[in-house]
Amino acid sequence: MRQRFEELLCRLGAISDLGKAAALLAWDAETKMPPAGAEARAEQRATLTRIAHELQVAPELGALLEELRPFEEAHEHDSFEASVIRVARRDYEKAVRVPPELRAELTRTAAQGYHAWLEAREERDYGVLLPRLERGLELLRRYAACFEPDDPYDALLDDYEPGMKAAEVEAVLERLKAELPPLIAAVPGPVDDSCLRRRYPPEDQRRFALAVLERWGMDAQAWRLDDTVHPFATSLAPGDIRLTTNLHEEGLSGVLSCLHEFGHGLYERQVDPAYARTPLADGASSAFHESQSRLWENLVGRNLATWRFLYPELREAFPEQLGDVPLETFHRALNTVEPTMRRVDADEVTYTLHVILRFELERALLAGTLAPRDLPEAFDAKMREYLGLEPADPVEGVLQDVHWSELLFGYFPTYALGNVISVQLWERAAADLGDLDRQLERGEFAPLREWLREHVHRFGRALTPQQLLERAVGGPLDPEPYLAYLRRKLEQVYGTPVT
Ligand code: ZN
Repeated sequence: MRQRFEELLCRLGAISDLGKAAALLAWDAETKMPPAGAEARAEQRATLTRIAHELQVAPELGALLEELRPFEEAHEHDSFEASVIRVARRDYEKAVRVPPELRAELTRTAAQGYHAWLEAREERDYGVLLPRLERGLELLRRYAACFEPDDPYDALLDDYEPGMKAAEVEAVLERLKAELPPLIAAVPGPVDDSCLRRRYPPEDQRRFALAVLERWGMDAQAWRLDDTVHPFATSLAPGDIRLTTNLHEEGLSGVLSCLHEFGHGLYERQVDPAYARTPLADGASSAFHESQSRLWENLVGRNLATWRFLYPELREAFPEQLGDVPLETFHRALNTVEPTMRRVDADEVTYTLHVILRFELERALLAGTLAPRDLPEAFDAKMREYLGLEPADPVEGVLQDVHWSELLFGYFPTYALGNVISVQLWERAAADLGDLDRQLERGEFAPLREWLREHVHRFGRALTPQQLLERAVGGPLDPEPYLAYLRRKLEQVYGTPVT
């Protein structure tokens, strides 16, 4: 039996290698590749993905997993052996339910959708995207039906949040939707954030960001930071973590985005090294991944305690920009709450409303209660209702995000759930570590990093997101700590109690 298990590892290793090779080609396409390489690159990526998929649905793999059932049962739930077999079986069973033609059609329509989205933005005309979106939704309904769910949205959500149901997401988001608007309304008015509208040379920003990330645990042996248009993090192996950033001349949002991507990278870096080249070597879910990026970007990166330590260094790097700016003014500017048109520019408080709006619309689109042609008006109406803003045209409105054009339905809520989880983890870490703020003030970031390794990262995909959360914080998903955190933050930033 042990030998058959080794054979399984060998097969899974090949699937993982192909996936990582495809990820490297994608990373290269976003960071280094000259534009004329795009067409050939698309073919190369498609070939690797196709071969990986063939291995993933191979009947021999299914037979092997079946044969290994007694071996799995002979091992503890948490053991490496049982975990690999359990997760590989789940992946296999999901993969074989989808007919290859449908999968190919989805991939093609997503690629066409992306190009239509670029064109629609160029022309400022939603009509360019509309036929692709209509076709995409048809295909997504067929895809969802492969899993015979009670609610088609459940099937799409499951690809990002294994085991989670749309109704559970809705319950959490409804709670936030009730609490966030009064919080935002209670914000006393704009603060002076002029220090973040100054010019910061990108090369100096990079040097500063790298110095921070090195303190936090990044090292040149296992990490890289490169430039791209849309920042992301990818891991090619536990010892090969790639972060990307886009450093603008104005403000420091590029530095914050480095802190965000670091959180994603650290998760991958700290998965149990024994899980490499198996399906366990990944985050538990998209929301868990996002919880890690949000934790380092917001709970650490926008924290007054952190800046008590880092601000002298930042000021030294940018004496002209910040020499006359007191720490408190800088921290307030970093935490300004004000509704923004674009989701990606949103602050910690208003961000979740952007997500709720998208969750509601994509559920209605999938259910067929909202027709794709009516989407722009529905989008604008919710922008007015939730954020009090009126998009001037589709580029400011419904065309601002790429997700729907690429058929990423079910993904948006993971951003909001990530915020919720990040605070649940933070509170538990703070309780375990003693005075976390004091540690940050002294520049001691290692205890938090190690806590996350021990309680979250090392498990990779071996636990379901529900099991992982239960073990890490002792309870299920709960929006209350997040809401309490936002109230405290607003009080700190604006100096008035917010109820
Ligand atoms: Zn992220």
